[in-house]
Amino acid sequence: MYLLIATAVLCFACSCNEAKTNNNIENNIIKVDENSEEAIPQGAKTLMKVYPNKVKGYADGKLIMANGSTILYDDGKKKDFLKMLDNSDPEDMFNMQYKTNGIPGYLEDAGRSRSEQLFKSMYGKSEAEVRKNLVPVNWFGKKVLFTKVNGAADSLRAVAAELAKLPSEYKKYLPTAGTFNWRAVRGANRLSSHSYGIAIDINTKYSNYWLWENKGAKETDRIKYNNRIPEEIVSVFEKHGFVWGGRWYHYDTMHFEFRPELLK
Ligand SMILES: [Zn+2]
Repeated sequence: MYLLIATAVLCFACSCNEAKTNNNIENNIIKVDENSEEAIPQGAKTLMKVYPNKVKGYADGKLIMANGSTILYDDGKKKDFLKMLDNSDPEDMFNMQYKTNGIPGYLEDAGRSRSEQLFKSMYGKSEAEVRKNLVPVNWFGKKVLFTKVNGAADSLRAVAAELAKLPSEYKKYLPTAGTFNWRAVRGANRLSSHSYGIAIDINTKYSNYWLWENKGAKETDRIKYNNRIPEEIVSVFEKHGFVWGGRWYHYDTMHFEFRPELLK
């Protein structure tokens, strides 16, 4: 018996007669042995569910991507807080639960761990590759660039439509301070989520950022939390699959990032 997972993209990738005779790929279907389904980690299942056009399956400890490439789900390495940020595998992305209320506790940063291999595979491995997937989105009188991959741009449009219905006193928070920007995180080697076209910053005038307010602080230092962004704005983003940097101990309250795997 087999669990069937539809994969139209794989078919386009082969589009040859071999597909018809291959035991594993047939009629646009990847067959995953049903007996092994128990072994699929919950996080891998979530990734398949929220990124169905990109993460097609799981076998032998690896995510199977739409283009046929594979990504090791769990490298099995024990990591401290910093290594978790710098060398995150897909499994590490689920190491903390994203909470939609309350002030984050010490080092609670659900969403700051990103598997660079997974994100590059989905959104583009270089600035030029990411740019090919960017589309304009109207954002309160401005056009911003966002990736169309995984429905991210559509989700941002839905956020804008809903925020537009909030009372006028909320409008001052919404002017954007930027979306796509291929760059490393300040002071680190890893890429910022802005590199993939999945993040938007709102008005810096009303924002708080841990490093602005704690100059020279290290990641593991104890810092005081600050925020001025209203929950009403945050909850609209979260409803549409965006996590908020204000839920992080290392707060970045202007920052919203399309990460539906953390909100399921
Ligand atoms: Zn940001």
